[in-house]
Amino acid sequence: MKVAVVGAGIVGASVAFRLAQDENIEVVVIDRDQPGNGTTSTSFAWLNANRKTPREYYEFNLAGMREHLGLPEELGEAPWLNPGGNLMWTTDEKELEELERRVRRLMSWGYRAEWRKAGEINKSLEPHVAFPTPETPVAYFPEEAWVDAPRLAKEFIRLAEKHGAETRFDAAVESAGIRDGRVATLRLERGENIPVDAVVNAAGPEADRVASMFGPPLPLARISGLLLRLAVSDEPISRLMHTHAANIRPDGVGSVLVHHDSIDQRLQRGEDEEALCAELLDRAQKLLPVLEDAEISGSSVGIRPVPEDGFSCVGSVSALPGYYEAVTHSGVTLGPLIGRLLAKEIVSGEVASLATPFSPDRFNRNIRL
Ligand SMILES: Cc1cc2nc3c(=O)[nH]c(=O)nc-3n(C[C@H](O)[C@H](O)[C@H](O)COP(=O)(O)OP(=O)(O)OC[C@H]3O[C@@H](n4cnc5c(N)ncnc54)[C@H](O)[C@@H]3O)c2cc1C
Repeated sequence: MKVAVVGAGIVGASVAFRLAQDENIEVVVIDRDQPGNGTTSTSFAWLNANRKTPREYYEFNLAGMREHLGLPEELGEAPWLNPGGNLMWTTDEKELEELERRVRRLMSWGYRAEWRKAGEINKSLEPHVAFPTPETPVAYFPEEAWVDAPRLAKEFIRLAEKHGAETRFDAAVESAGIRDGRVATLRLERGENIPVDAVVNAAGPEADRVASMFGPPLPLARISGLLLRLAVSDEPISRLMHTHAANIRPDGVGSVLVHHDSIDQRLQRGEDEEALCAELLDRAQKLLPVLEDAEISGSSVGIRPVPEDGFSCVGSVSALPGYYEAVTHSGVTLGPLIGRLLAKEIVSGEVASLATPFSPDRFNRNIRL
C-alpha cells in the first residue's frame, strides 16, 4: 500500500514517521517547501490541555501531552522538548475569576495545577518577573512545556526516511486523480504523477485548498497570530508565562518569544504590524524589566489552521475511500498523537475512541466532483 502525506509540518511529519514504521506501507511525503517551514515554524508551541473544553477535546490534548512526554524514552533523546511548566496570572478581575474556575476544573479532572504566591515564585522559580505584588496569586502548571516544533518535524522526517519513506520537497501538489471512486494519483506542479492508494491531507492552513483537489469541501478558518522574537544576552526566564498583558517563553539560547491573543485580535482587524510589535515589546518589558535593553530580532505572522467548529479534523473521509485528513489547531500539542492514531487507522481501519469525536465526517462532506 502506498500512502502519500501532503504537508511536512509537525502533523504530516508525525503521520509519515508512524506510517513508515510499518514495513507494509510505502510512504511518500510531499511539501511545497521544506519540512517544518509552515505554521509549525510560527507557533507559540505551548504543550498543554489548559484551556481545552469540552472533556473529549481536553482528553485528546492531554493524550497529546503524554505522547510528547513519552518520546524521549522511545527515541532516546528529545532536545526539542523544553519542560519547566507554565505560570499564569492576571490583574483583570474577570480574567482572575475565569482562571480560578479553570484551575478548579482542571484539578477535578486530575490535571496538575497549583496556586503559588508571586513572592514565592520570585524566590524559587523566576527572579526577574515584576509581579503586581508579592501576594499576587499565580497558577502553576508544572507539566506544561514548550516545543521546538520545526526541530521535531525535521526529526520525524529524518526518522521516516530512515524507515524507507520517500520525500519530495519544494514540490507542491497541484491536483489529484480519482479512479473508480477512490484516490488514485497525485500530480505535482513540477509535472510528476505519483500513483497512490491513499492520501493524508496534512497541509495545515492550505488544507481546504488541498481538500478541494479531491472534492470533499473542508470548512477551514485561517486565524493569524503575531510572534515577536527578542534578542537577550542572558536567560531572563526559564519557563512559559501567560498574563493579562503578554505571553512570554524562552526560545533557545539568547532569545525569548512574545505573543498575546489581544494583539492577534487587533492584527486581524487590520492594525499596523509594526505598531503592534512595539506594543508587545513594551508589555514584555513591563513584565520583565531586565528586557529593557532587549532588541527585536524578528517577528512573524503565523496562520492557524482551524476547522470550522474549532476542533481537530482527523481520520478518513468516508465519502472518498483512501482520502484522510489531519488538520488542527493546537497541532504542536496534538501532532505526535495524531500521527500515531491516524497511521493505525490507515493500516488497520481501527479508529481510536479518543479520535472519534474529531472525525472529518462530522462536516457535510458531499463530493463536489
Ligand atoms: C501564533 C500561533 C500560535 C500558536 N500557538 C500554539 C501553541 O501554543 N500550542 C499548540 O499546540 N499549537 C499552537 N499553534 C498551532 C500550531 O502551530 C499548528 O496547529 C500546527 O503548527 C499545524 O501544523 P501542520 O503540520 O498542520 O501545518 P504546517 O506546519 O503549516 O504544515 C503544513 C505543510 O503543508 C505544506 N503544503 C501546503 N499546501 C501544499 C501543497 N499544495 N502541496 C505540498 N505541500 C503543501 C506547507 O508547505 C506546510 O509545510 C499556534 C499557531 C500560531 C499561528
